[in-house]
Amino acid sequence: EHSKESMLEQLNQYSSIKNVIGIVSGKGGVGKSFVTAMLAVLLNRKGYRVGILDADITGPSIPRMFGINEKASANELGLLPELTVNNIKIMSVNLLLDKEDSPVVWRGPILAGTVKQFWTDVVWDELDYLFIDMPPGTGDVPLTVFQSIPLDGIVIVSSPQDLVSMIVKKAYNMAKLMNIPILGYVENMSYVKCPDCGKEIPIFGESKLGEIAEETGVDILGRIPIDPVLASLVDKGEFERFSCDYLSGAAEHIEKMYEK
Ligand code: ADP
Repeated sequence: EHSKESMLEQLNQYSSIKNVIGIVSGKGGVGKSFVTAMLAVLLNRKGYRVGILDADITGPSIPRMFGINEKASANELGLLPELTVNNIKIMSVNLLLDKEDSPVVWRGPILAGTVKQFWTDVVWDELDYLFIDMPPGTGDVPLTVFQSIPLDGIVIVSSPQDLVSMIVKKAYNMAKLMNIPILGYVENMSYVKCPDCGKEIPIFGESKLGEIAEETGVDILGRIPIDPVLASLVDKGEFERFSCDYLSGAAEHIEKMYEK
């Protein structure tokens, strides 16, 4: 049973989540976690109660971006998320494993089962937005995760390189197949800004996302350059302190979409 109502009923009884947004990509390494974290921080800054579920179990990078090293605890109600400096709630398989670097070599069904358990066993309390960093790609694991979480909408992240091989189209088709509304595309690593003259250099070539957006009838919500300042905030676990506005439009879109 995959109806939205039945999945919401499976939620921990101490949790109430208004909007569930999945961040997906056709392949790994394009900055899906990066975009998930950025959107979560922007909505948190607007005053919403925000959580992040790191469902990218093969490469869980969300806790590290926020400098979270503690293990998650549990009480009789369920698993308790960790809090970032600004009170974003985080749950990730990294918060359950003994060592952050222990390789997760579980097989597909176990991965999908673990994500499902995050959905049913975590005490989120009340959230306006839960952002889910989805497993990359369009194989069995992402598909099962898609089916076990009631997503209200997804954001598709791509890099200019993806577009050549139509990887974005695959992610688009998967969402269509699952009947999940696509909120829009975000292009990451779009360009590099020259520190001296400010010129934008498209190091991966000119983007084809515009064409694909038109063809598929989906908006482009934002473009993010390769930004060494952001990379260093990631490394320091201080991502919450970023001050760029690459995704302000995307955050507004997400906010408007759900104004009731
Ligand atoms: P994914 O979740 O798609 O596998 P990540 O979000 O983990 O990818 O990004 C991969 C790496 O690239 C991370 O170390 C991340 O900090 C870095 N990165 C991603 N996007 C940018 C960017 N726009 N500028 C600088 N570094 C970036």
